[in-house]
Amino acid sequence: MAETQVGKQTRAPAYRVKGTTDDVTECQICGKPELKGTVILDILDEDGNVEDITYAGTTCAGRLTGTAARHVRRAAELADCKAAQRLEWAREKIAAFAAAEHDDVLLAEVFFGRNPAQRARWTAERAAADARWFLAVSREMLAARGIVQPGSDWPL
Ligand SMILES: [Zn+2]
Repeated sequence: MAETQVGKQTRAPAYRVKGTTDDVTECQICGKPELKGTVILDILDEDGNVEDITYAGTTCAGRLTGTAARHVRRAAELADCKAAQRLEWAREKIAAFAAAEHDDVLLAEVFFGRNPAQRARWTAERAAADARWFLAVSREMLAARGIVQPGSDWPL
């Protein structure tokens, strides 16, 4: 490719600890097999956007992120915890709003029931729109993790 020269000048990719997984047990960096689990690493482009992910043992993950292996482990556990919290958040929103999404008036009531202070400030349309936004974002978050979304018939 004609980009070779540019490619030579770009810096090495940056990595960010994303979490851990038991599904991949081979370090993708050095090939070490039969690990108990691996650290999921985001590969970042120069603007900090996620380009891809890879899986590494803690030693390689530490080398790539410039931190000690024990810190990598802690960062990965923290990332797992945050991811679990986000999933919990998404599930809670779906549980709260999905049953009312066929009806904007009902949806607004559910929203105001959860956020009483907004009743005086927001129209029902805005409350319903917000609830719909929460539903959409929550479903996207679950879908991104491969969790099947039953849609508006979601049983509570
Ligand atoms: Zn490795």
